[in-house]
Amino acid sequence: MLTKVLLSSDVALVCVQHALSTEKEEIMGLLIGEVHNNGTLVTIVSSVILRRLDKKPDRVEISEEQLVQATLRAEELAAEVGRPLRVVGWYHSHPHITVWPSHVDLSTQSMYQRMDSSFVGIIFAVFLTDQSTKAPSVQITCFQSVNEGSNQSRREIEMEILNNNDSLLINNFETLTQLPAILKQEEDEAFNNEVSQNETDDILTKQHNAAVRTIAIGHIVDKMSRPMLEALVARNELNSVRLKTLKQQHQQMMVKLENMSCNI
Ligand SMILES: [Zn+2]
Repeated sequence: MLTKVLLSSDVALVCVQHALSTEKEEIMGLLIGEVHNNGTLVTIVSSVILRRLDKKPDRVEISEEQLVQATLRAEELAAEVGRPLRVVGWYHSHPHITVWPSHVDLSTQSMYQRMDSSFVGIIFAVFLTDQSTKAPSVQITCFQSVNEGSNQSRREIEMEILNNNDSLLINNFETLTQLPAILKQEEDEAFNNEVSQNETDDILTKQHNAAVRTIAIGHIVDKMSRPMLEALVARNELNSVRLKTLKQQHQQMMVKLENMSCNI
């Protein structure tokens, strides 16, 4: 039975960034990783962002096609790093509501667990306010579903976020930077649907729809692309400092090593 989940900090970053992309709708994605110790431990090393199929506020669904695509992505990554990676779970967001899984979440989870007993669900509750400090907060829960007769209840799974700089770092950054493009695609689709459904609309309505799309794209750039760029530039600077220090340490150690071999 699954008892623990290890989540890579870079994957957590991608998921939280994705969850924070919209206050109005739930977002979702699939998690890629490895199952260890007879299904008692799962490590999550990468993720796949899923586009919303229908933009309903309280509904998230994964299509067969999306599942197949994520499976192919896992196989690609597995070949790249030489590890048995596969789709190990799913995540979704709860904007402005409690982190706990709903009845729908539990039955969805139960369906996946029937196919794969170590499959996990992670929920990111975002746009919450901490009661004591009044600061914005994010809550995370990792769960599985337990069947009790015809009802399902949740079982919390212990989760640890690991700061691992492993070989999938670049892949996770690629996933992160895909996010604005995926959001823009969703806006374009919504706009095109509107246009094709209402070809007889007057010019004012057309102008209005075009303006709504422009505002939405401006919002993506302002709230997502720009902060993401700033964070990545900061991280790059930090990495340069680290690199410099490591190079110095390397040099000092080489000098020591040389002295040692002289003495022998
Ligand atoms: Zn939910």
